[in-house]
Amino acid sequence: MTKSHILGLGRGELEALVVSLGQPAFRARQIQNWVFRNLETDFRKMSNLPKDLVDGLESHACVATLKVNARQDSQDGTTKWVFETHDGHLFETVLIPTEDRRSVCVSSQIGCAMGCTFCRTATMGFLRNLTLGEILEQVHFVSRHLKSLEPSPDLSPDQVSNSTRVSNVIFMGMGEPLLNLENVASACETLNSADGFGVAKDKITVSTSGVAPKILEWAARAPDFKLAISLNGSNNAVRSELMPINRRYPIEMLMETADEYIRLTGQKLTFEYILIRGKTSTLEAARELKHIASHRHCKINLIPLNRGNPDMEAPSEEEIAAFERVLAQGDFQVLRRRPRGPDIYAACGQLATEQKKVA
Ligand code: SF4
Repeated sequence: MTKSHILGLGRGELEALVVSLGQPAFRARQIQNWVFRNLETDFRKMSNLPKDLVDGLESHACVATLKVNARQDSQDGTTKWVFETHDGHLFETVLIPTEDRRSVCVSSQIGCAMGCTFCRTATMGFLRNLTLGEILEQVHFVSRHLKSLEPSPDLSPDQVSNSTRVSNVIFMGMGEPLLNLENVASACETLNSADGFGVAKDKITVSTSGVAPKILEWAARAPDFKLAISLNGSNNAVRSELMPINRRYPIEMLMETADEYIRLTGQKLTFEYILIRGKTSTLEAARELKHIASHRHCKINLIPLNRGNPDMEAPSEEEIAAFERVLAQGDFQVLRRRPRGPDIYAACGQLATEQKKVA
C-alpha cells in the first residue's frame, strides 16, 4: 500500500488520516507543527503523540521519501542536490544563498518535454511529474539543511532565526511547472501558508516556457504568486529555434496572453531573457525586446548563458553592457542575474542528471 506523504496533505486530509487511525482530529495540527515548525521527519520523535498514532503513522504515512544521490557545493556558496525518488528517478534541487536571502530552486518534473535547445534538462526527455509531496520535500530538506548549519557568531538571535529559513522559492529547476499545474499551485499554497513554510507570496515565483493556455489557467488558480515567462528570443524565428513551444504559441499570442494575465491578476510579470552571443544578444534583438516589454507591466531579467552547451556561448561584458543601454531607454525595469553555481552545473539551464533513470 502506498504511504501518504504528510507534506502533501492539507489540514482536512491529514485530519481524515488521523481519524481513520482511530485518533481525534486535533492530532493533525500537532503533526503539522512537528513537521513544518520543527522540521521533524521521524514520527517516533513527535513526543506528544500517543504510541498508537505513531505506530499507525509509521505504517500509513511518511515525511521524507527522497534519498540524496549526490551533493555538490559551488565556490560561491550554492549547493546542488541530486535526489533519488522511491521509484528510482533522479532530479535536482539548488540552494542559492546570498547575504539576505536563501532561495531554493525547485524542480516540478523529472526531466522535461519542452525541448529548449539551450537547456541541459531537455536532453533527459520527460519522465514524470513530481508529486505534491516530492515538490514540498525539496524545500523541507533544504530547510533542515539550513537549520543544521552552524550560525555565524556575529548574528543577533533574530538574524540567526532568519538565516535558517528558506526565504524565496523559484520553480525554475527541472520541468515545465505549468504542465504539473495542480501540484505546483498546491505546493505554492503550502509554501506560503502560516501552517506550512510561511514563505511570502511575492517570494514564490513560477517560471514557464510560455504554455499560453496554462498561463490563463494559472491566473485563475493561483493569481497571488509571481509568474515569470522565459522569453529568450525577441522574434519568432530565434525563439522558435531556441524554444520549440514558440511554434505552437508564437510571441504575439504569448503577449496577448501575458496582457490577459496582468489584467486578471494585477501582477507585474517577469520576462527571463537568456543572452546568447550572436543569437539573442545583438543590438537588433535588444531593440525588439524593448519593443515587446514597452508599455507592459513587466520587468526583464537578463541571464548571460551559462556553460554546459558546447554550441553556444555567453556574450562579452561589453556586448551585455551595450544590450543593457538599449533596454535602459524603455519604461520597464531591467535586472541582470548573476550566474550562481556555474561550476557545479547548478545555474539556469544547466540542470540535468547524468542518468535518465537508476537501473
Ligand atoms: S528551459 Fe525549462 S522548459 Fe525549457 S527544456 Fe529546460 S526545464 Fe524544460
